[in-house]
Amino acid sequence: MAISHDTVTGIGCAVALVNTNVDGVETLTDVAALDALLDREQFSGRRDGTAAELRQMLALRRALRTAWEAPDTRTVVELANRLLREARALPRLSDHDGWDWHLHVTESDAPLVHRFAAEVGMALADLIRDGELDRLRVCAAEHCTAVLVDLTRNRSRIYCDTGNCGNREHVAAYRARRRETAAGAQRRETAAGAQRRETAAQR
Ligand SMILES: [Zn+2]
Ligand SMILES: [Zn+2]
Repeated sequence: MAISHDTVTGIGCAVALVNTNVDGVETLTDVAALDALLDREQFSGRRDGTAAELRQMLALRRALRTAWEAPDTRTVVELANRLLREARALPRLSDHDGWDWHLHVTESDAPLVHRFAAEVGMALADLIRDGELDRLRVCAAEHCTAVLVDLTRNRSRIYCDTGNCGNREHVAAYRARRRETAAGAQRRETAAGAQRRETAAQR
């Protein structure tokens, strides 16, 4: 099932926001950091640039992590419904700026936290309807709390892209294999040595 562009964008925004705090390292420390995040995600519309707005986004971040840690679909359903309700989402078709007809559920001058929550809420609703929630994953690297959305066709993605988790894990696995091989070789050598000694003793 192809995931729509709007859904990819909405979930991408959620991933970006949630991953501003990974392994206890806070990067959403001020209004400038929030601005940079919104620029990166090309999130248009109203920005107040206030401490209050930042606080609202931090609260939203806590709520959004639920989507990745939820024990079941119903929990995510409740989250999506709450996000849409609190954002006062009201669907409206638009073809602004030469785009084809698409849905907007908030006005561009609505508060940032409402528009952000609504985008994510709609994306979650889409994933839930398509039975694609299992694409939301927490990074498989040890000690990494970053979240990701696996958009690969064969659902093979398990590492985040906040750091270098995929590479780091591969290097760790390679080193572990080498240690194994080295230890195995040593064991074989010791066994061979013991056998030689035994053979010598028998003569
Ligand atoms: Zn639009
Ligand atoms: Zn990771």
